[in-house]
Amino acid sequence: MSRPTLARINLEALRHNFRLAQSRAGQTRAMAVVKADGYGHGIADVGRALADEAGKYAVACIEEARALRDAGLRQPVVLLQGVHEPGDLAECRHQGFVPVLHGPEQLQWLAGDGQSGLSFWLKVNTGMNRLGFRPEALPGVVAELEPFRKGLLGFVTHFACADDLDSTMTERQTRCFADAVAPWPELARSVGNSAAHFRPGQPLYEWSRPGIMLYGASPLIGRTGPELGLRPVMTLEAPLIAERTVRAGESIGYGANWVADRETRMGMVAVGYGDGYPRHAGTDTPAAINGRRIRLLGRVSMDMLAVDLSAAPEANVGDRVELWGETVSVDEVAACAGTIGYELLTGVTARVPRVYR
Ligand SMILES: *Cc1c(COP(=O)(O)O)cnc(C)c1O
Repeated sequence: MSRPTLARINLEALRHNFRLAQSRAGQTRAMAVVKADGYGHGIADVGRALADEAGKYAVACIEEARALRDAGLRQPVVLLQGVHEPGDLAECRHQGFVPVLHGPEQLQWLAGDGQSGLSFWLKVNTGMNRLGFRPEALPGVVAELEPFRKGLLGFVTHFACADDLDSTMTERQTRCFADAVAPWPELARSVGNSAAHFRPGQPLYEWSRPGIMLYGASPLIGRTGPELGLRPVMTLEAPLIAERTVRAGESIGYGANWVADRETRMGMVAVGYGDGYPRHAGTDTPAAINGRRIRLLGRVSMDMLAVDLSAAPEANVGDRVELWGETVSVDEVAACAGTIGYELLTGVTARVPRVYR
């Protein structure tokens, strides 16, 4: 027997979420963002599960694009961070990887390489100020790319505040982008991360780029994935390996920072920050056992955490505890840990086997 701590991956839920993204995008086509090992779900299985629906994949770097090819997938793969060295351009051409070129160095690499046949996008910086060319630089950039013009598929920008429905930054970025690319109506445009799919009236143009929503977690501040019609894809579960009753005045775990104020039946669960469960999730973070919601007690250890079994008197050693999934959304756990679902899903460590359904 092995330790039954695992991440169940529901590929049917993944497809449901992709279809939801595609339906919210309307005429826009959605490319499936599968970077960071498919947001921790396993890039090969996620990629294969979406092969019939996604016209393109998007990843951060060329290693991830190779993983999709190794999984037998032939669709174009957009490299959202471009290439990291000039030598990678030849591989992009041969493999159908489509880098997003975002800075002058990358233009020089392309010029130096001199070969045609590479397809690429250009990144426009509309206010995120991570990567991309300023809007006013675009005419010069496109002119410089004249010898490679056949490979220029279109323009990409990325939103800084799309997760916040109260912020007007996305509208400003959208207007800035639309004005910047207006001189090239024949080229494609791509602006939308997951959050943009939920913003009323947000134009998504030709290609959207949903990531987190495919995995069932929420892209919006203050909302959970299920509230947005998304289905959780990952269920992180671990066995209850001990139970005991602590007496009033006794503490649990490192730092002894949770002290029972009455007799409390508690259990130990075989999962911890060594598995990617967030150490910042403290007492009262929700979990579930046998479909019932319970709460964490005290500090998360590397390989274990404690739960309060008062709400689940029938629970016993050997029962499976859901850390997040169908009953407790990863968004709730993330909120308790002061982070976002993205970080929890991508942070599940290699020690946790992914089991696919
Ligand atoms: C990661 C990423 C996305 C997907 O964002 P989500 O919020 O996960 O939907 C889209 N575009 C770019 C440029 C990205 O880096």
